[in-house]
Amino acid sequence: MLENWVVTPTCLPLVLRRCHACASDRFRANGKFRVNANHKLLDAWLLVLCTGCGETAKLTVLERMNVRSVRPELLDRMHDNDLGLAAELLQDPVVRRRNRIALDWDNAWRLDTGGSERLDREAIDVSVRFAARIPVRPVRLIAEGFGLSRAEVERLIDEGNLVSAVRLSGKLSGDFTFTLKR
Ligand SMILES: [Zn+2]
Repeated sequence: MLENWVVTPTCLPLVLRRCHACASDRFRANGKFRVNANHKLLDAWLLVLCTGCGETAKLTVLERMNVRSVRPELLDRMHDNDLGLAAELLQDPVVRRRNRIALDWDNAWRLDTGGSERLDREAIDVSVRFAARIPVRPVRLIAEGFGLSRAEVERLIDEGNLVSAVRLSGKLSGDFTFTLKR
């Protein structure tokens, strides 16, 4: 029997970045952008606010781009302070590298398991799909999905009753499957 689980974002991840004004290292995007046109060149930033003191920092989205080469739809979304666009940009590795930031996904996702009956089954195959590239420990995910402790999940792995083609001990952010034997 195959079950399908989905890891889904519930809000924007926090941005890991040191604040110059206080000791905090977490910023929160609220979907606000700033666009600056200078002659035919355009700069655009995603604004993020320090979770400690509210200081604003700017993440570069567009840098000295020719106005004609920027999709009007993208500009519209920035002018509309589109939260969905903020989510897309934060998940874009190019944006993250350019701004030297990482993301904190703690408390920003949930696991949907479909809640099906799984008692008395011999073995269960579970396919886990990631709706966004959220780095999660499979041990934690499996513990949550089956209502087990992490120690119990680790014991199942050690005993060979929980198997996967991927390493279950590290972190993953892409789709994988595993089998729980009983
Ligand atoms: Zn601060």
